[in-house]
Amino acid sequence: MSDRSSYTTDDAGIPVPSDEHSLTVGPDGPILLHDAYLIEKMAQFNRERVPERQPHAKGGGAFGTFEVTHDVSAYTRADVFQPGKQTEVLARFSTVAGERGSPDTWRDPRGFALKFYTEQGNFDMVGNNTPVFFLRDPMKFQDFIRSQKRRADNNLRDHDMQWDFWTLSPESAHQVAWLMGDRGIPRSWRHMNGYSSHTYLWYNAAGERFWVKYHFKSDQGVEFFTQDEGDQMAAMDTDYHTRDLFEHIVAGEYPSWTLHMQIMPFDDAKTYRFNPFDLTKVWPHADYPLIEVGRMTLNRNPSDYHTEIEQAAFEPSNAVPGTGPSPDKMLLGRWFSYPDAHRHRIGANYKLLPVNSPHAAPVHSYSKDGQMRYTNVTDPVYVPNSKGGPHADPEVSGPVVGWHTDGEMVRTAYALRAEDDDWGQARTLVREVLDDAARQRLVDNIVGHLLNGVSTPVLTRAFEYWRSVDKELGDRVESGVRAKQDESDPKAAEQSNPARSGARRKA
Ligand code: NDP
Repeated sequence: MSDRSSYTTDDAGIPVPSDEHSLTVGPDGPILLHDAYLIEKMAQFNRERVPERQPHAKGGGAFGTFEVTHDVSAYTRADVFQPGKQTEVLARFSTVAGERGSPDTWRDPRGFALKFYTEQGNFDMVGNNTPVFFLRDPMKFQDFIRSQKRRADNNLRDHDMQWDFWTLSPESAHQVAWLMGDRGIPRSWRHMNGYSSHTYLWYNAAGERFWVKYHFKSDQGVEFFTQDEGDQMAAMDTDYHTRDLFEHIVAGEYPSWTLHMQIMPFDDAKTYRFNPFDLTKVWPHADYPLIEVGRMTLNRNPSDYHTEIEQAAFEPSNAVPGTGPSPDKMLLGRWFSYPDAHRHRIGANYKLLPVNSPHAAPVHSYSKDGQMRYTNVTDPVYVPNSKGGPHADPEVSGPVVGWHTDGEMVRTAYALRAEDDDWGQARTLVREVLDDAARQRLVDNIVGHLLNGVSTPVLTRAFEYWRSVDKELGDRVESGVRAKQDESDPKAAEQSNPARSGARRKA
């Protein structure tokens, strides 16, 4: 950082004569175009914002340490997960649909993005606070996010298009049940878990392969805001979660998360009762229990939000030796999409920024030139060469480890297995995980959401959607909506459901 202790200069380091007055012809005269300092100030200001993320625009984060407390070297050779290892981390938390100034306490999944500055290069886990997602094919992702953002005509968010998309995409049911439940508005970022959601590959030093899911469990406990509390907080303090994290770190109350893994032996995936790579499903704990690995503690706030958080670029494709992707189609889509987004948003050389460059590993790449590059490879600028330039070394990288795949090119869904369906795990969540009070809040949250501008045909589909999850839940949602419609406009309720109104009149 530059020394700002004495006199002001322009960006070329030239001392400036005034912080207050433009150059003019006489005190009342017009300002002059050759006031280069004024022009620089105006032009720089106009260019301060980079395009916001699309999605996950609103967020905050902090730095800290990840420490391995348990030995999982039998499953991965990744340096960051070796016993006793301590690695610097950056975490960024976010909402999904809202813009940069939107309230932290809107009902939404939360991003849980991590960058580990490992000795093998940067390793990123770009997860969420939910263990599943709305979709299982990246072809639908763009449409999904548009349905959650703003309409074309009035530029308003619109529950009708949200439910229209969800009810036409039954694979969303598990995630929507989760979202409408208590965890849809975390009490703070400190009070939520982070999940990889995706299945990833791990392999050990002997090349043995495992499928894995990451679970970062909050050591502060999981806490939530009710819809009313979230709404009140959105009105009182738009940036509540950002402030909460920052202030707790300032006070020395460092939040931490314990990392557990679910680990599936490689061959289990072939015969497991449902597709273990389907992002709309969890692996039941009873089948694949959590294995403790270590603890992440956040203990350092950014000193500059823009350069350390806004320009932070996370990407699942930052995968170090010992880790890799799985056949999860959403993950493979993100493998391309994230670096592509960063190149657009920050520029081709985004990995040169201090927050994105490795802190514990050297860079010996042949990337060169492009906008804003300030350091370049020297000759030789090509490989192979006989001039002493770096060359790929399989001894360092290890072999390529993946999985066997073969087949005709097709555009089709995953092949169905015995227990592949859209509703089963949502049903388990509603019936077996939630208690009566949580189920009532789920009904109330869904009813409140549906009463916000959802059109009759979409409403009808929404009732069936919830009945497919659980008959009683769907019935309670429908009667909750009908009761509120009757309260607010008895005439409209009769028109939208004359049969039912007739029955009521008879009673
Ligand atoms: P378990 O009974 O072993 O796990 C249930 C899990 O549900 C808990 O461990 C907790 O996850 C999570 N949970 C608790 N309260 C809520 C809530 N209000 N909203 C969302 N999640 C909650 O059963 P299974 O492993 O067989 O999973 C049953 C269902 O639990 C799944 O269908 C899924 O909906 C949900 N779930 C499962 C997870 C998994 O990885 N198996 C993870 C999270 C949810 P945690 O300990 O991570 O806080």
